[in-house]
Amino acid sequence: MTDFHSPDARAAAALPLDLAEVRVRFAPSPTGSLHIGGSRLVMYNVLFAHGQARRAGKGGKFILRIEDTDQKRFVEGSAEGLMDGLAWLGLEWDEGPDIGGPYAPYVQSERQHHYREAADQLLANGHAYRCFCTPERLQRVRDDQVKRNLPPGYDRHCRNLGADEIQAKLDAGETFVVRILMPLEGETRFVDLLRGEIVFQNDKIEDLVLLKSDGYPTYHLAVVVDDHEMDITHVTRGPEWIPTAPIHVQLYEALGYEMPIFAHMPLILSPNGGKLSKRDGSAALADFRERGYLPEALLNYLALLGWSLDGKTEFFTMADLLEHFTIERVSAAPSTFDRDKLDWLNQQWINHHLTVEDLAVRCLPFLIAAGTIEEGPHDATHPTYGQVLVAAGLLKDRIRHLTEAPDLMSYFLADELHPYDSALLMPKRVEPAAALGMLKAFREVLPEIDLASHDATEARLRALADELGVKAGQLFMPIRVAATGRTQSPGLFDTLAAIGQDRVARRLDAAIELLEG
Ligand code: GLU
Repeated sequence: MTDFHSPDARAAAALPLDLAEVRVRFAPSPTGSLHIGGSRLVMYNVLFAHGQARRAGKGGKFILRIEDTDQKRFVEGSAEGLMDGLAWLGLEWDEGPDIGGPYAPYVQSERQHHYREAADQLLANGHAYRCFCTPERLQRVRDDQVKRNLPPGYDRHCRNLGADEIQAKLDAGETFVVRILMPLEGETRFVDLLRGEIVFQNDKIEDLVLLKSDGYPTYHLAVVVDDHEMDITHVTRGPEWIPTAPIHVQLYEALGYEMPIFAHMPLILSPNGGKLSKRDGSAALADFRERGYLPEALLNYLALLGWSLDGKTEFFTMADLLEHFTIERVSAAPSTFDRDKLDWLNQQWINHHLTVEDLAVRCLPFLIAAGTIEEGPHDATHPTYGQVLVAAGLLKDRIRHLTEAPDLMSYFLADELHPYDSALLMPKRVEPAAALGMLKAFREVLPEIDLASHDATEARLRALADELGVKAGQLFMPIRVAATGRTQSPGLFDTLAAIGQDRVARRLDAAIELLEG
């Protein structure tokens, strides 16, 4: 058997020579929001199909399929939310429910006849059977197993019903499910691209339901039928599907389908142990978007969470990843989610890799949502875009998350400052009277200064400090606070220029009044 511990062997197995095209799919159930684990899986699929496969001179397609056969767990709008999230990340599919494709439809509830045909085939060739057990009986079996400390599972009660018995029950209109008839001897094995060979004892595997009494398939039947019919070459999915993978392998054989390559991806763990979940703040992609992460930073972070190029390169654009990603370098071991590292990458992206124009545009929705600026288009045609652009230029190095924009930019964008504590106007060792004197002195010379000129403002303020007999820093602080309402801002002269002559004058008047009051 191949040694799957060597990346070369895995690389050869990932792209067999006779394979003309890689076809991978993401097959979410529309039962909630898209998590970052799913987002990472989609990215790996896209990188494998559009990057690695195409670099190797093969075709590469990524397919989106909605697995909505569990009607009880269906959540309205979740498929749309999911597609919206993927589009935000910039991850594109080649075939899918919205754009169609040669294997349409890409929604399982519209593909029922395929599953029924497969179930009929399995009933006919003896690889499945009808089970008429009532929910009450199944519950009794389970209770009994629990009582006797036995592993829970179906007791194969209907597995050996005679043809006459079955006919009689059908004639009597009894409802049934279709179950797989797992062999009771031997082993089922398959090679996982990341984990090597995995072997299961057949008698330990339950005769799971394939078709429910409402005629809908379960995941196990639908996934095998669709992956086959859609010519999926590599089944990439979460590790939670490893225990039932032998059922799928059995179904491929029983239906006479060619086996795909399986790659069960690693789990993302919470820093507190266990699977990353809501308890860790959130694992939902939409929350990261809302909290001001850039899609680029998130992709960069998620790529590194389970994959590395050389163990040291940390900065990757999607284009870099398309050039370098190989599926065989994905680690099978789970990785722990590290929010600090994501935050650091997000800041790196904002500070060093976005143009000021791009940053300004991305801040717009956050500024609008916070009411800092008026409603308007989320692009350079927004009426306040010019001011946002100036603020973005000055604050680019300070923003860590886009959500900080409304607060950090407020004194550039709003007419009025938020109320602030007058004590801020008096830096250490400066008496209230002295602070007041400085502000008044600046207010007096302000009309003569062209604030738009950084150098002129600086020269005049330094001269003013000399005239007042104070250090430049002692003069700058009350002015900064009067103009911005806070003790920290970008460089004072640029800040004053951006706020503009009129607003600086009004804010100085207000500060003087505050100190006099
Ligand atoms: N519908 C399954 C899920 O959401 C898909 C698993 C798979 O990719 O096969 O978990």
